[in-house]
Amino acid sequence: MSEVLRVENLQARYGRAQALWDIHLNLQEGDGLGLIGHNGAGKSTLLRCIAGVHRMGMSGSVRFGDDEVRGQSSFRISRKGLSFVREGAPVFGDMTVLENLMLGVAQARRRGTTARTLSSVWGIFPALEAMTTRRAGLLSGGQRQMLATATALLSNPTLLLLDEPSAGLAPEAAENCFEAITRLRKEGLSLLIAEQNAEWLDRVTTHSIEIESGRMITGSTTEPKIP
Ligand code: ATP
Repeated sequence: MSEVLRVENLQARYGRAQALWDIHLNLQEGDGLGLIGHNGAGKSTLLRCIAGVHRMGMSGSVRFGDDEVRGQSSFRISRKGLSFVREGAPVFGDMTVLENLMLGVAQARRRGTTARTLSSVWGIFPALEAMTTRRAGLLSGGQRQMLATATALLSNPTLLLLDEPSAGLAPEAAENCFEAITRLRKEGLSLLIAEQNAEWLDRVTTHSIEIESGRMITGSTTEPKIP
């Protein structure tokens, strides 16, 4: 089993305000690592630092596979195989569902990788198949989350980062989202998921770390719960 991600001694600031102190984590191939913490704890900042979206005022090390990627642009990091679904799951509202999905396929081609097939994506998100011609701007929050995650998935990433996938979703949509993530875990996709809902997170991850006010307060490793 190879190491997908290693973060060491990561610090991040917004201007003069420090947001993260001394973060350490690592993720092996096939792991599902959870990032738990209240509002403002620093979960999104950590994901943004790893994905190259936040680069100013950052120090420490972020190794993705064999590469040190700290300081690299999100574009460069995504071309190495890291996909990031941001909080709120932004999609291109004027484009159809299928056109959005094709952006994931194009991303795989840019990386020189084979994209996932649409049929494999329908297996993870069965409800999406009937929506391919719908304008993405008309989707509900839960449908948008599915679309953004499916688009990321089509690019065939080595590591998928999800920022609060269940946030703002109605209970049924959150449950569908949970089921899709469970399927991804069963496939062995490496995942890093930030969530406020600890119980929900515990069901889909192998281990987790907790962040409070920008600092890690717990980190744990357990045996995978999903075979
Ligand atoms: P949430 O669930 O609310 O997104 P979070 O755990 O993801 O919370 P972050 O969004 O990473 O937390 O915020 C961590 C800290 O950084 C908070 O104190 C927040 O106010 C601050 N922060 C986040 N984004 C910015 C920004 N663009 N400019 C300045 N400070 C910011």
